[in-house]
Amino acid sequence: MIYDLAIIGGGINGTGIARDAALRGLSVALFEREDWGAGTTGSSTRMIHGGVRYLLYDIPTTKLSSEDAGRIRRIAPHVTWRIPFLWPLYPGGVFKREATEAFLAAYDPHAKRKGGLMHARLSGEEARLLEPGLAPEVQGALTLDEWGCDVYRLAALNALDAKEHGADVRAHTEVLAMLRTGRDVRGVRVRDVITGGESDVEARVVVNAGGPWAPAVAQLADAEVKMRPGKGIHVTFERRIGNYGLVIEGRDGRTMFLVPHGAETIVGTTDDDYYGDPALVDLEITRDDIEYVVEATARALPQARHWRPLRAWAGVRNTVFEWGVDADDLSRRHEIINHAERDGIGGLLSLVGGKLASYRIQAEETVDEVLKLLGREEVDSTTGEAPLPGAEEPPDFIAMARDIPLPPASLERIWRRVGSRIQRVFADATPDDLTPVCRSEAVTAAEIRYAVEVEGCRTLDDLFRHVHVGAGTCEAYDCAPVSAHIMMELLSWSPQHTMRELESFRDRRWINRRPVLRGANLALEELLRY
Ligand SMILES: Cc1cc2nc3c(=O)[nH]c(=O)nc-3n(C[C@H](O)[C@H](O)[C@H](O)COP(=O)(O)OP(=O)(O)OC[C@H]3O[C@@H](n4cnc5c(N)ncnc54)[C@H](O)[C@@H]3O)c2cc1C
Repeated sequence: MIYDLAIIGGGINGTGIARDAALRGLSVALFEREDWGAGTTGSSTRMIHGGVRYLLYDIPTTKLSSEDAGRIRRIAPHVTWRIPFLWPLYPGGVFKREATEAFLAAYDPHAKRKGGLMHARLSGEEARLLEPGLAPEVQGALTLDEWGCDVYRLAALNALDAKEHGADVRAHTEVLAMLRTGRDVRGVRVRDVITGGESDVEARVVVNAGGPWAPAVAQLADAEVKMRPGKGIHVTFERRIGNYGLVIEGRDGRTMFLVPHGAETIVGTTDDDYYGDPALVDLEITRDDIEYVVEATARALPQARHWRPLRAWAGVRNTVFEWGVDADDLSRRHEIINHAERDGIGGLLSLVGGKLASYRIQAEETVDEVLKLLGREEVDSTTGEAPLPGAEEPPDFIAMARDIPLPPASLERIWRRVGSRIQRVFADATPDDLTPVCRSEAVTAAEIRYAVEVEGCRTLDDLFRHVHVGAGTCEAYDCAPVSAHIMMELLSWSPQHTMRELESFRDRRWINRRPVLRGANLALEELLRY
């Protein structure tokens, strides 16, 4: 079979392109080396935001991502949620205070595009009523509305919808080489990284959606894609501190976000030029990175010094190359490169740059280009209106608990992952299937079964992304063995394979845990690992 389109990379852009193309009737193959959203997408601040900061130097990007964020909200209300933010104001900065408010006033029309409220000014007393832990010197706050998102789920749901519309979607499948006729690309050589099996897949058009790996992917066709990758780190703190997000400032004045996310609070991000391998960025998290984030958090919320950091994680921005610009001020615009026009290499497009918040329109524009290359008639994209699998407004969880005997709070957490498909997850559930395997994240065996059988999970790390196994406070010590046992039965793993999976899962969690530990705690946890 010759596919119309093969896509390399299953981040939010690759999965978004696969869905858009499948919905427009193209035959599609999607290849992701790891799992949906496991690259930059999973390391983002997880906000479908409009980019208030980019108003200073990149208004079109703010406008585009605010418009698209509004559509993403509507097609995926179950995996996105409103986060009202407070922007604390400190004494002595009258000019800065007025400038910040003027800035938010300019952002108001964009916030409206996403269904957000206009900004408001709060006194110190009002701000403390909402967030009692604010530092005594905070004199007031401005408010703004943004949207949080489960980015792994958003990518997985795009892949699932593509599959349900006929696409051949393959995670854990690496593209090793491009098939060529002369200089032109006519497909890809792929390897299943779990079984080691290799095969050739022919396609009329190949799209490089490799995120920060786009230069390496383009290289497979002897093409050059230039990027300006930037490293950004986040710290996850145990527990959800509150229902409000905070805009906080680092010692150099750089703004960051404190975001309530599920049962946790995440804070970030830093932004520094990065020259290394994007796959190894988690190993490059320094003590200074962590201290910079914690210091900024503690300025607004002094008790943050006593919070327990659970882990730190890093990602690499897939920013378009520019010279002579501070990393913070780089444009987040996107570009679709037609390599036939630019390099004389037919059949290949690269999507570079952009934002998670505008992934849908980036995907739509890419598929428009694909249709032109295929010489097909224009077909309108429907991804702005067609709901993603499970999309519905929040149901009554207390009523639902009468049908599915789990606490309403657990049902809500599960619903936030699968939406209305929660009924399917528990359709034939036995009492054993309802027992939580992970107490801190309320994950049940029934969800693991659904993740394996319907969403195609093949590793414990996949379960971390799809159902939050190992994402809670036990850092996988509690739930990983039980989950491994379930996977073993579902996928007929050998005992040796199961043990290897467990070890690699714990090693992976440790890479993110180690940077937040100090002194005796570090020594103790290191000792407990062996
Ligand atoms: C720290 C940080 C914070 C951010 N916060 C936000 C935010 O809050 N909101 C927002 O809108 N944007 C944010 N962004 C930007 C956003 O995350 C990215 O624009 C977006 O996730 C890029 O998605 P992608 O699909 O292009 O790349 P990726 O998610 O990296 O996907 C590319 C995929 O290609 C795969 N791949 C590479 N080579 C191969 C190969 N040879 N074969 C098969 N697969 C391959 C990789 O495994 C990877 O999964 C942030 C970025 C960073 C770094």
